[in-house]
Amino acid sequence: MKKTIVIGGGAAGFFSAINIKENNPEMEVIILEKAKNVLQKVRISGGGRCNVTHACFIPKDLTKFYPRGNKELLGPFHTFMTGDTMEWFETRGVPLKIEEDNRVFPVSNDSESIASCLLQEADKLNVKVLTGKGVQKIKKTENGWNIFTKEDSFACDYLVVTPGSSKPIWQLLEQLGHTIIPTVPSLFTFNIKDSRIKNLPGISVPKATVSVVSEKLTAKGPLLITHWGMSGPGILKLSSFGARILAEKKYTFKIKINWLSKSFSEIEEILIDFKTQNPRKLVCQRSPFSEISKRLWEQLIITSKINDTTNWADLSKKQIQKLLEEVGVGIYEVQGKSTFKEEFVTAGGVDLKEINFKKFESRIHSNLFLAGEILNIDAVTGGFNFQNAWTGGFIIGQNLGK
Ligand SMILES: Cc1cc2nc3c(=O)[nH]c(=O)nc-3n(C[C@H](O)[C@H](O)[C@H](O)COP(=O)(O)OP(=O)(O)OC[C@H]3O[C@@H](n4cnc5c(N)ncnc54)[C@H](O)[C@@H]3O)c2cc1C
Repeated sequence: MKKTIVIGGGAAGFFSAINIKENNPEMEVIILEKAKNVLQKVRISGGGRCNVTHACFIPKDLTKFYPRGNKELLGPFHTFMTGDTMEWFETRGVPLKIEEDNRVFPVSNDSESIASCLLQEADKLNVKVLTGKGVQKIKKTENGWNIFTKEDSFACDYLVVTPGSSKPIWQLLEQLGHTIIPTVPSLFTFNIKDSRIKNLPGISVPKATVSVVSEKLTAKGPLLITHWGMSGPGILKLSSFGARILAEKKYTFKIKINWLSKSFSEIEEILIDFKTQNPRKLVCQRSPFSEISKRLWEQLIITSKINDTTNWADLSKKQIQKLLEEVGVGIYEVQGKSTFKEEFVTAGGVDLKEINFKKFESRIHSNLFLAGEILNIDAVTGGFNFQNAWTGGFIIGQNLGK
């Protein structure tokens, strides 16, 4: 009987093990999990609700959410992606729902539904799960692998490595000849001390464009002012796509904010039209932009040196120009980062050049498969990181032993 060892009982590990067993019922499959309990991250994910995937059903569009891994995942997504994930869980008794922002959650709003579904499937298929078994050494043998934990050793024909972001396992893989791209944090919020936003925590803007000054790094999306700076999907997207560049800058850099995501000339036209139509109205009381809250508007006016008794008709060209700059290209200094909730994701991991993505198999060693966060793949928030784990696990299951 052939044997597979899976290192790590997380999302990618369980999905690999289940799919390997479904495709090879004769295979013995053992998950070795370091912790006392498996699927811990699934349980805490999505604020305890588990954002299991994202309702984006076109492979090419889906890859755009992955700053690292976008090219490599295109092929795999043609085999197994978001719609397949939804069907997989729903046909196994977990109804899912798509929320307004396209994130997909179990109808139960409880990540336990996902965890218990994976546990039941693994159990039904006779996948062995051994907890408290942290892998410490991996040795290649003539016909397979020897895996060592503190107390035990396991010989196997196939090895699936799914320990998430794990420094010790990256080191073991390096010893086996793999290249590890150094890790840096992804998905973080920006620390900004600026009088314009100091008193505005909680205020959000629905569609801002944020760019890093003198870099080709721009993201569009809702922006939230926090008591330490800025957060929200637009900022998180920028932190994810800029993870490496921003780490090189030691998280000290300037950003440019267009609060409306409109062109300069469009904003200018709106301002001039508004001035013509509302000459006797106070600038501080009447804003032409419904997207910008009253309190943020007041701050932009103060910065543009417009006092609270100025009418629109009295605005000088210079003041209009300054207001235009504040709305369209306001510069803010970022000094440091903060973690987004507890959802830390790292960029970095096994170099994707060394993986054959038709099988999620190592190009350096045959019968060595890798999936999930151990690879240099990561995405913005929204269910994409789990989708990477499900896709890798499914494809390993289809190919291992073939
Ligand atoms: C708080 C939080 C919330 C998140 N929410 C979401 C979300 O809602 N949607 C989403 O898409 N993504 C979310 N993510 C990201 C997502 O959880 C990960 O991308 C995903 O879990 C990666 O799966 P994985 O199987 O590669 O790794 P993991 O889920 O981390 O699993 C790896 C497993 O391997 C075990 N292990 C490690 N080293 C060893 C070893 N030496 N020997 C044996 N076992 C070992 C670990 O204990 C762990 O159980 C969230 C992350 C965090 C931190």
